[in-house]
Amino acid sequence: MIPVRGFSGETIAVLGLGRSGLATARALRAGGATPLCWDDNAEARARAEAEGFACAPLKRADAFDGVAALITSPGIPHLYPTPNPTIALAMSLGIPVDNDIGLFFRSFATPDWDEFDTLPRIVAVTGSNGKSTTSALIHHVLTAAGRPTQLAGNIGRGVLDIDPGEDGGIVVLELSSYQTELARALTPDIAVFTNLSPDHLDRHGGMGGYFAAKRRLFTIGGPDRAVIGTDEPEGLFLASQLSVAPADDRVIRVTSAKPSGPGWVVSARKGFLAEHRKGRQTGSIDLRPIPGLPGAHNHQNAACAYAACRSLGLAPRQIEAGFASFKGLPHRSQIVGTANGVTFVNDSKATNVDSAAKALQAFDRIRWIAGGLEKEGGLAALTPHLGGVRKAYLIGRSAAEFALGIPDTPHEVCETMARAVAAAVAEAEPGDTILLAPAAASFDQYDNFERRGEDFIAEVAKYL
Ligand code: ADP
Repeated sequence: MIPVRGFSGETIAVLGLGRSGLATARALRAGGATPLCWDDNAEARARAEAEGFACAPLKRADAFDGVAALITSPGIPHLYPTPNPTIALAMSLGIPVDNDIGLFFRSFATPDWDEFDTLPRIVAVTGSNGKSTTSALIHHVLTAAGRPTQLAGNIGRGVLDIDPGEDGGIVVLELSSYQTELARALTPDIAVFTNLSPDHLDRHGGMGGYFAAKRRLFTIGGPDRAVIGTDEPEGLFLASQLSVAPADDRVIRVTSAKPSGPGWVVSARKGFLAEHRKGRQTGSIDLRPIPGLPGAHNHQNAACAYAACRSLGLAPRQIEAGFASFKGLPHRSQIVGTANGVTFVNDSKATNVDSAAKALQAFDRIRWIAGGLEKEGGLAALTPHLGGVRKAYLIGRSAAEFALGIPDTPHEVCETMARAVAAAVAEAEPGDTILLAPAAASFDQYDNFERRGEDFIAEVAKYL
């Protein structure tokens, strides 16, 4: 645990008592503060009370008497579409609002670091897609290279739950836009921006707000090194804004285009990763045979992870060895099995159009299971990637809507996962891939994308 520093003797309100909220309350208490907790869910409150935390509805101004700060959970809106009433109340009373990420960055460094030969370092990964894969991959490569490392944030442990920094230790954090938008301290040593495409626009008031939320990771503390995917205009702009000269190597650009210029560039093109610095090639890896990293999107993640690991002093061969043993993450281009020449792939995490497009590009002869709770913008952006789709099997609330969005692709409205898998299996021929890549959220039929992926796997198991 990382005891929270700077609030000893103060009362700190904690709103939201999920995994990160409870960890926050514990870390505040360990640092000498008194947490005052609330969650609208009675079960969550009961869990906090069982650990001895006081709970009180933070709904009236007098509830905030003597409260020094409010710490909130990422799922609770603080701005758009409308601020949660408790957060709005705290803001109207002038009470600072922060989250566990902000507390972590102000608390992680401790005086005993004076004894260390190598200071602990923090790598923070953000972006629309590939955050989890990239974070897990960096963590895996570091582990394989024998470096002490911990994985936390949106993946792995809650950020205040991890062990204190150790000599030469590296913390890899996955950070969402909700987290970076609010955190009052953001000081990673290395910050990674994978890519940007529309997502969560309701929470950020549109694309500009979404980009601004992610960009704070690079502008609040100013990392020593920024690894930036420059395939979209926003990434290109950010890289340009952070560089003071063409060869400024505080910025590493990650691109699927041909590398150019004297700067530090890691490119991933046609399955080959190449590192260029000062106009010369300084490293290369053939990514095509690596089973845990299928498709161009994973090659982008590999390039981001490579750049972060190079920044931490790893050699190209060490990174290549780490890549080779990476198994990938469940629900992301996860190969579930093969039967009668048909491969089953679970990409339930493809909750938006961009990630689904990437999954569709990674495989051929696809029987595509899609649909769920549709996001803003519809399916139009997928049209160029439907060439490899033999037929779509549509599920969930958006099934009829999706059917209208893909008039030129054979499709069938199946409604449920069981029917979609059965129909796809009945029609599949050897060499086909049955791919779950919904391009939609899961909440119409499932608690979360993990449950949806597990349901797919359970249905598939009947045919394996
Ligand atoms: P995040 O944590 O950002 O949501 P994940 O690694 O969990 O990222 O992947 C989310 C989804 O996006 C999965 O469907 C995955 O196949 C897809 N994906 C992964 N990496 C990328 C990428 N670099 N670009 C686009 N889509 C990606």
